[in-house]
Amino acid sequence: MEKLRVGIIGIGHLGRFHAEKLAQIDKADLVALVDINPERVQEAVKKLKKLGKNPQIFSNYRDIARLVDAVVIVTPTFTHYEIAKFFIEKEKAVFLEKPITNELNLAEELVNLAEKKNVPLQIGYIERFQEAVKEAISKIKNPVFIEAHRLSCFTERNLDIDVILDLMIHDLDLVLMLKPGRKVEFIHAVGAPFFTNLPDIVNARLVLDDGTTCNLTASRLSLSRQRRIRIFEKGSYAVIDTLEKSFLYVQVDPSTKEYFQEKKLFPQDDPLKSELIHFVEGILAGRPLSPNGKEGLQSLELAFQIRKQVEQNLRKFL
Ligand code: NAD
Repeated sequence: MEKLRVGIIGIGHLGRFHAEKLAQIDKADLVALVDINPERVQEAVKKLKKLGKNPQIFSNYRDIARLVDAVVIVTPTFTHYEIAKFFIEKEKAVFLEKPITNELNLAEELVNLAEKKNVPLQIGYIERFQEAVKEAISKIKNPVFIEAHRLSCFTERNLDIDVILDLMIHDLDLVLMLKPGRKVEFIHAVGAPFFTNLPDIVNARLVLDDGTTCNLTASRLSLSRQRRIRIFEKGSYAVIDTLEKSFLYVQVDPSTKEYFQEKKLFPQDDPLKSELIHFVEGILAGRPLSPNGKEGLQSLELAFQIRKQVEQNLRKFL
């Protein structure tokens, strides 16, 4: 197979960008766009025509199974289970936006099904594909303290999930990636609903079995956006800002008390395109995909533990 025939399901806020990026990937043939709201697809089609692409349009995802080798699922989270299961059963490779599902047992079922059927499954943890994150992973070898602020302004999107599954899950994935093999021994988490019935702001403090402490804050009701992760280890620290697309590395000389700073900017970085290239080229070459279903499940499990703590602590106030 020279080109992978791909369909995208869900042409909303993020799905449109997936369509634009896939249209720029030589080894992908974007053959179908699916959305239950036809107006949304028309807007995307206009842009794709300018890029010389002319995918077919559908309102029911079941109708594209015969046309595609792989699908990219960018629908609201509560629909992920049904749609992903349909395509995994048809043995089509699946790129599934995060979080896998809004129910842990359904996510486990999907991941097990993909494994049993040997169907490639990649989860949309886009932050792993940021150049600034890759830089931090290459420099920081043994973090002892990780602090993350992931703040967004309120929008009407993704309100079927709480802010842990919506935003914090990216930082949970990064923590687990920065500390491979470590277990979370202690969680204290607080949060509160504001605009929805689910927590819209959450702070979680995690302590890992080697003592590493992580202080994570996620909010979807802030006045401005922020995506900043600070990672400290003995003698140095890194600051990743994925909005600014920057990486700052600071080393300290304890004898002279001097700081050595190195700042890198990655203005051309396109992590959405990078994760889709990884998906398309990985499938064509028969390479394993990462983050796969199992990896996606680890952060989801942690997200549910945090949610339980938030709910317990909220009850104390009510
Ligand atoms: P959105 O509401 O803007 O778009 C969802 C689209 O799916 C809509 O156009 C809707 O009409 C369509 N849709 C709903 N049910 C459908 C169905 N059964 N078949 C076909 N189309 C259907 O939402 P969004 O912000 O684009 O988010 C979509 C998904 O992407 C969510 O799971 C969200 O968590 C995820 N997301 C991930 C990131 C990231 O950083 N990786 C960022 C934003 C959103």
